[in-house]
Order: sequence, then C-alpha cells, then structure tokens
Amino acid sequence: MEKKDFIQLHNEFKIIEKKIRQYDVIIIYRHQSPDLDALGCQCGLYTWIKDNYPLKEVFFVGDTNNNLIPLIFPMPMEESSLPVKKEHLAITLDVSDYKRIASNHINLAKEVIKIDHHPLPENKDDIFGNYLCIHPEFASACELLSLFFLSRSSKYKISSKCAEYLYAGIVGDTNRFLYPATSISTFNICASLLSYNFDKDELYNKIYQIDKRRLNILKYCLNNYQITSKGTVYVIFEKEDLKRLNMETYEGNNYLNELRNLIEANIILSITYIESKKNYRVSFRSKNIPINILASKYNGGGHKFASGGSIDSIKSLPKLLKDCDETITLFNKQQGKTSH
Ligand code: AMP
Repeated sequence: MEKKDFIQLHNEFKIIEKKIRQYDVIIIYRHQSPDLDALGCQCGLYTWIKDNYPLKEVFFVGDTNNNLIPLIFPMPMEESSLPVKKEHLAITLDVSDYKRIASNHINLAKEVIKIDHHPLPENKDDIFGNYLCIHPEFASACELLSLFFLSRSSKYKISSKCAEYLYAGIVGDTNRFLYPATSISTFNICASLLSYNFDKDELYNKIYQIDKRRLNILKYCLNNYQITSKGTVYVIFEKEDLKRLNMETYEGNNYLNELRNLIEANIILSITYIESKKNYRVSFRSKNIPINILASKYNGGGHKFASGGSIDSIKSLPKLLKDCDETITLFNKQQGKTSH
C-alpha cells in the first residue's frame, strides 16, 4: 500500500473509532443472502463493540443462511426489536448497493458508516453513507475490518470469538486463500488473528463438512453443468430442482468453485430460481477475466472475478451466454490468445 493510501485508510479508521465511541445505539447491517464474509464482519464488529463497550445497545440484523447460522454465527436479531426511533448510528458492512442491504432501515439512522471491499456501484442511486471506508484492494470485508481492530489492539480488546468470525470471513471470500486477491497482507492478518486462540480446525470442519443433502447438490452440479464452445460453464436450478434437492436459493452458487477448476472453464455461472421475486439469481465467477462490468448489465455487480446479478426469465439465458462468450473472446484477443 502506498503511503498516501495508508494515511487515507488511517484517517478513515480514526473516524470509525470516533463514531462508534460517540453513539450509544448502533445497528449493524450487511448484504442479503449472507456468506461467510458478510456474517463474519457483521458478527465480528458486533462482538468487538460489545466486548469493549458492554453498555452500548448494539444490534445486527438480516436474513439467515441455514448452513452457517447457528452453526458458526448467531441468529440475527429480530427486525422488530430495532430501536430505530432512538438516535443511532448505522454501520453497513460488505454491501455496495443500497438495494442489497438486508433488513434496511438506514434512512432512519442519524449517520451511516459504510465499510466495504466492493467498488462503488455504477448506478448513483445505489450510493449511500455519510462516512465511507471503501477498499476494493482487500480480498474481503473481514480483512479490512481485521486491520481496523488490529491497528487498535493496544487500546481495545479482541476476543477469540471476534477473531474467529473474521478469520471465517477471510477464508470464505478468498476460497481458502486460493483467489488471486489473496495477498501478503491477507496472510499477515490471518497470522495475527490466529494468535487470539480459536480452534481453526474445528472452524474448517464446520465450514467444509457437508451432509448427504449438500453432496446431492454437488452431484447435481457435476451431472448437469453445461459448457459453451468458448468456456462459459453454467448450471441451472429451476424451481423443481430446488424442491427436489431440498435447497435454498442462496445455495445455488455454493459449488461454483468445483466447476471453476475445470481447465476449459473461463466464466462460471449458477442460475437459480428465486420464488419470492419470480426471477433468477445469477452468480458469476471467473479465473482471470473481469466479469463485474458484465454483471452490472444484469442488474448486479460485485468483484472483478466474483459477481452477482439476475435475469427475469430463463428466456434471457441465450443472451447471457452470448455476452459471457463475447467477454471471453474479447479478453483473449486483448491478451493475444485464441479462444478455444
Ligand atoms: P454471489 O455469487 O451472488 O454471492 O455474488 C458474488 C459477489 O458479487 C458478492 O461479493 C456479492 O456481494 C456481489 N453481488 C452479488 N449480487 C450483486 C448485485 N445484485 N449487485 C451488486 N453486487 C452483487
């Protein structure tokens, strides 16, 4: 990190610390369909504030994820319990777009801090927050938040639970340190977190052990994936597949990493029916081809190599596949390679 970026980050951390100190009531938000990173930083921040300021009223809310809650993270609090009428600070974590905030009441907060590792959204209507700490150079929001806590560890306590939540988020968003965004700093931060004495092996068991139901979903992916001539790999979960496999919409993208290992794969998609919206969630992954601009054409966005979006109907699939294939061809042309 360059010196000027370090100074900027340091100043942002100072504001976050000051605002947390200032407010007696704080509500912590994150994105919908939460993953390890979103839950890790939300529960990590909650734990850190309560450990250091036991008298503050702190809340964390949002939808659940049955694979991770209550196994690794506690149940989110009831939305109805939020003291939204009291003067309070809202902190959002790991969510770039206003519309993706889960259980969103941030318009009722006196001030909003946004801590995130996604780039700012393309659409200006989706931008929010009074104080921004946005650093896409970090592999996960948990890594960014860990740096904040570690930089203040001489003044504030970091409990083993807090360190464990953050470590889980870093492991999740780097796919066990495999994704290219994993940096020297990621490993340094993880080494520091591990010194807080939580059982990492037990945590790995909880994250990666799967039951027969989940193995069946993986089997479905391996048996049913399709691949275009340019290397767009995709798997579709229709309403009846979700029912037969006894799975939730948020699980549709859980096995994209297995498909990502296929040599021929360039862009990997899961397309999952969402009953409540009557549309399809699309998760995009790639090895080295930037796909966030492509995802933004499909009501979404995200990171360079891991993004999300949606399509209204399965009739849009051919256009989506064509766009992915064209993205692959263009990328290969720019790299001076012929696509297979
Ligand atoms: P997913 O595979 O859907 O979990 O998405 C992968 C990444 O893209 C995550 O980091 C999400 O935060 C981000 N993402 C997913 N959906 C959207 C969306 N509709 N708009 C912006 N970012 C998204």
